[in-house]
Parts: sequence; structure tokens; C-alpha cells
Amino acid sequence: MLRNDQLDQWDHDHFFHPSTHLGQFARGEVKNRIITGGEGVHITDRDGNRLLDAFAGLYCVNVGYGRQEIAEAIAEQARELAYYHAYVGHGTEASVTLAKMIIDRAPDNMSRVYFGQSGSDANETNIKLVWYYNNILGRPEKKKIISRWRGYHGSGLMTGSLTGLDLFHKKFDLPLSQVLHTEAPYFYRRADLNQSEAEFVAHCVSELEAMIEREGADTIAAFIGEPVLGTGGIVPPPAGYWEAIQKVLKKHDILLIADEVVTGFGRLGTMFGSTHYGIEPDIITIAKGLTSAYAPLSGSIVSKGVWDVLERGTDENGPIGHGWTYSAHPIGAAAGVANLKLIDKLDLVTNAGENGAYLNKSMKEALADLPHVGDVRGEGMLCAVELVADRDDRTFFDASKKVAPAIAAAMAKRNVIARAMPQGDIIGYAPPFCLTRDEADTVVAATADAIREVL
Ligand code: PLP
Repeated sequence: MLRNDQLDQWDHDHFFHPSTHLGQFARGEVKNRIITGGEGVHITDRDGNRLLDAFAGLYCVNVGYGRQEIAEAIAEQARELAYYHAYVGHGTEASVTLAKMIIDRAPDNMSRVYFGQSGSDANETNIKLVWYYNNILGRPEKKKIISRWRGYHGSGLMTGSLTGLDLFHKKFDLPLSQVLHTEAPYFYRRADLNQSEAEFVAHCVSELEAMIEREGADTIAAFIGEPVLGTGGIVPPPAGYWEAIQKVLKKHDILLIADEVVTGFGRLGTMFGSTHYGIEPDIITIAKGLTSAYAPLSGSIVSKGVWDVLERGTDENGPIGHGWTYSAHPIGAAAGVANLKLIDKLDLVTNAGENGAYLNKSMKEALADLPHVGDVRGEGMLCAVELVADRDDRTFFDASKKVAPAIAAAMAKRNVIARAMPQGDIIGYAPPFCLTRDEADTVVAATADAIREVL
């Protein structure tokens, strides 16, 4: 084992941390934290602190930490066959089994799974497939992609462009020109103070229709959205939103990509968020919960309609020119199979729905009287608390106050991890599905105490 001072020095000198303020880290204003273990909903760090991880890593360790069944499946696969590629018809029992398990759980009419490594590369794949699809259909102009402000779809060139958060564009020359952003279904922040949910949905729809009218439906290939906005602030859509949006997309022959990287495999209390909201996607993005992050693996699930065109395309053009070395990596696939079995065995989707509802209800009740709590919202095992300077007119705090990071830090002192969401004064929660009601109570109490301490 390395000495702590040695580890800190190497970390400081050589490790390029993602999504980190590099200057602050270099100056020691952002401290490193070395995580050494995890069990259930808890992680431990090298200083012996045991923290309740109410964000499941990055909303990905859905079955909780320390699951030996998954660790053993990974070890066994590594011993038998650590790697073989999936090009030109190759595969492993684990990758084929996992594809079948995913289609069995997916919404109706889903047909095939293309495996990748991360949510970002799966969304890059999706956009390429959509472009290929329209080229095969003889409509080369139909290429633009509509995303939403506040959406998060990854950090690649195209996926960073689809992401509708300024932080991910600033100084990176994004978004790319093929991407358009439309209104976010963020009732609390985007609706007028006296607007009803139905009126706000109508506003979102008319914004989308105006965009399609302006650009021309024959230039727009697809619309991408998360069933519940995640990194943009954990925002469930207002009632009727998806139904209304979908109607417009169908009318204009625009494909729908449901980005279920966060919601896939149970987080909303249903196997997929699409089923939860009655969404009928053409393509679904999956990652995180597919393996509960025990190994990196993602996927693009394509519908029968899309698949038929892709298949025709290769008959006309030869093998599809899109492949990753690590597509369907056997170790990831073995982790995925073990993870989905475990979710079934422990009925964790039901638990995510039930104890997630308990967490949301308890949070609402406990924070009701705190003057700076503007909104408590969530769905399933997702919850958010939005802080405001003035509750009556939803005024923002001055950004320099950094309210959310201060509250998250005050919670960490109480051994609970929640996430200061990257944009806005929002604390996010996405615990592992095995969270108990006692653990939910601990999260709520730490939140209330931390808010009282900071505000
Ligand atoms: N899509 C959504 C909805 C996400 O939340 C994320 C990551 O948080 C991604 C895509 C990107 O996934 P990854 O970080 O694995 O590239």
C-alpha cells in the first residue's frame, strides 16, 4: 500500500480529474478524496469515514456496493476469456445472453442492442445510426437533431453538443451546427408564475412546433430526451408532456431517442422510464444501470423499424462502418448479466419505486417549512431539492454564494453524499435501489440539518 503522502503527491502531479476545477485542485482548494471500499449504500474513504452515498456514485451503482455475485461473474469471465471482439459475427455467451435479457425487459418493438462502453459513446452511435438510416431512406437533408436545454447526453463532440448545459459547451466550441435546443420541460423554472402545467406543456409543444416549422421537418432527423431530466437538475416532466411531444414528432416523421442512461433498469420504479411515461422510442440509450457500474458497458437499443433499414443499408453498402474494440466486452457483459439477475432476484425495481416514493415524500415533509426551499421534486429513486433566495417569486441566489456546493459539503460532514448539480442551486439524490427507509430518513435529516446550517 502506498503511503498517503505519496498517493496525494502523485494525485496532485499526474492525475487529470474529470469535471474538476483544475486550478482549484492544483492549489489544494479542492481536496482529493480516495475511496477504498463500499458495501450496500455506503462507501468508505482511506481516512476511515463511512458515508451514505445518496447519489450511487454518479447515479450508477444501482444494486449497491460490494455485490459478490457480480464480482464473481466478472472474475470468472476474466479467467475463462477476458476479451474477444464482436466484429463480423463474433461474440460470447455473456454478450448474446445480455442482449436477449435487455430485449426481454425493453419496451415493445425493440429489436437489437449495439453495445458500447459509456453513455456518451452510445449516444454518438445513436446519432450515426440515425444519419445512416436517413441516408439509406434517400433523405440526406434530414440530419439535424433536436435536444432540450438542460438535457445531458454526454461529453463527446456530438453528445456534448446535445447536452444543453453551458458548462459543457464553454470554450469547447460546442454545440456543433447540426444540433438544435428546444425548451426544457422544467415547470418550476421555465413556467410563468401563474401558468398551469397544461399551459406550460402547450408552451413546450408550440416551441417545438415553431422550431420544426422554421427549420423544415425534412431537415430534422431525431429528437433526443431523457424521460426525467437528470444532470440538468433532476426534473420530472409535467403531466402529458411526453404524449404531446411524441404526437408532434410522429406527425413530422422525426425519430425519438429516449436517453435512459439514468432511468434504464429500474430507477423510476419501472424497468424503463419510457414505459413509465408511455414513450414509444425508436432508439433507447442505456449505460450506468446496465452493469450497476461494476464494469463499463453501454448500449443502443434499436427498434424493429430502425433495424430493418440498417439491415437493408448493409445489403446495399457492405458491413456497417461503426465498431469499437470494446463493443460487448465480455467482462462488461458478464457484469451486466449478473446485475440484471440480481435486480430480478431482489426485486430492486419495486424497491426503487416504493422506497423512492418514501424518500420523496419524507423530503417534502421535512423541508416544507424551510424558507429557502423552493421545490422538492422527484420520481422513483430520483429526488431534487431546489434552493431559492425568495420562495414567493423563485428568485435565484447570487451565483457567487455557491449554495448547493456548501449544502453538499455540510451533508458530507454528516456522512451523507448528495450531489450539487452542475447548474442552479439544486441538490440531487439518486441512491442505490436497495436504500431502506431508515437510510432514507438519514438522508432527509442530513439535508434538513445542512440547509439550516448554510442558509
Ligand atoms: N446520458 C445521460 C442521461 C447521462 O446522465 C449521462 C451521464 O451522466 C450520459 C448520457 C453520459 O454517460 P457517460 O458519462 O457514461 O458517457
